[in-house]
Amino acid sequence: MVLCPERLAKPLKPTQHIGMKTDIAPAPPGCLLLTKDDVVSTRRHDLLERNRLLARIDAALSRMDHGLFGVCTQCNGPIPMRSLEADPALARCPDCREDC
Ligand SMILES: [Zn+2]
Repeated sequence: MVLCPERLAKPLKPTQHIGMKTDIAPAPPGCLLLTKDDVVSTRRHDLLERNRLLARIDAALSRMDHGLFGVCTQCNGPIPMRSLEADPALARCPDCREDC
């Protein structure tokens, strides 16, 4: 609340009062309050995840261009179609993914 001298010089109406007022109500129980740092951190995490996904998609497109889509980048074996249907950006077969 901002108090200006002009307003303080005027008499208050019976319905007015001077006091502390906060614009931020306490969070109801069970609610999560996020700080600006929390929001920035979450945004940064989202951007990193999107960049990783774009990199995986770019790599899959490159494998397509080179006729290697669906070929495991580790063992050169086939990546099952059902796996590629679930995640077309997969670079390794299920056996090689388990080795990680
Ligand atoms: Zn493999």
